[in-house]
Amino acid sequence: LKSLMGRVIFHVDMDSFFASVEKRKNPALEGLPVIIGADPKGGKGRGVVSTCSYEARKFGVHSAQPISKAYKLCPHAVFLPVNMELYQKVSERVMALLRSFSDRFEQVSIDEAFLDVSEKVKQYTSPQQLAERIKDEIRRKEGLSCSIGVAPNKSAAKIASSLRKPDGLTVVNPEKVKEFLNPLPASKISGVGRKMQERLASLGIKTIGQLARQPLDKLTEHFGRWGLRLWEVANGLEEDEVEDSYPIKSLGTEHTFEEDVGDWAVVEDCLNSLVEKVHRRVLEEGFLFRTVGVKIRFEDFETFTRSKSRQIPTNQKEVLHEYAELLLKEFKDDSRKLRLIGVKVSNLQKVGKTRNLLEWSR
Ligand SMILES: [Mg+2]
Repeated sequence: LKSLMGRVIFHVDMDSFFASVEKRKNPALEGLPVIIGADPKGGKGRGVVSTCSYEARKFGVHSAQPISKAYKLCPHAVFLPVNMELYQKVSERVMALLRSFSDRFEQVSIDEAFLDVSEKVKQYTSPQQLAERIKDEIRRKEGLSCSIGVAPNKSAAKIASSLRKPDGLTVVNPEKVKEFLNPLPASKISGVGRKMQERLASLGIKTIGQLARQPLDKLTEHFGRWGLRLWEVANGLEEDEVEDSYPIKSLGTEHTFEEDVGDWAVVEDCLNSLVEKVHRRVLEEGFLFRTVGVKIRFEDFETFTRSKSRQIPTNQKEVLHEYAELLLKEFKDDSRKLRLIGVKVSNLQKVGKTRNLLEWSR
């Protein structure tokens, strides 16, 4: 616990990021429900909701929902396609700004980051003042709002940032981490999804406080290493470092079929073109990868991801292709048709664009 003393961690999460960027571009959207996602086609589209504004959330619209469902819930919303290039550019500026306020910086996604500000914060009267300064800067320079959670560790900071969205600021006093966590539902812990929530509930565990009071060996018996992790987070004892990271963590792309596909030859064709695309970007960005992942969604929306890693980093297309094909094979005998497939590489490292790529291609 000693190592947590004096640590100040911020978790910064942009508020409905894609929708906010669209609103900034077109102020007429202000106050309207805005839904960003692929291909609404008057409610007959096959994509999913990527993000939506808070006005749309009131109608029950949320990320990852089929866009046709969102259309039913909120037909009067403004539907916009995903303009990833624009969001990426804005994200890069926001992340650079956040980085400048931190001792150590870890980008988690396009709109989310951890900042270790343990040293920097000493130039301010309080963590609160630094957090407000960051919020002001992002508002002034980018016209966007964010929510910030402040705590002595990452897991509590992440939970804190989610509590008062949008435009929230939640500071957890280092002596009161457990008090803060106790009443919250266990689902607030990152990684506790619906399935995990059900398993915990079957043991009578609903809140983080109840989780914290379980004997550790009971949790490890049920959940293995993950049980230890849950116990540490619930007790405010998690001590992960904010890891200075390269901004891009993975490169990937996916494809939603116009019509669900049962013919495996079509799937393999599509896989080949996705592999081509991802591999081109790997070379353009000058990366080596260690992990290949695939994503697969069946006609009933059940979605799976699988990944496979190797020891030695590479940028070879053959490896990417071989791994992706191998991972996809598991699903070949499923009788359901396919709706979407995706390919990505992660565990990236930079080769540097000037180096001879061949030198690395083993
Ligand atoms: Mg966000």
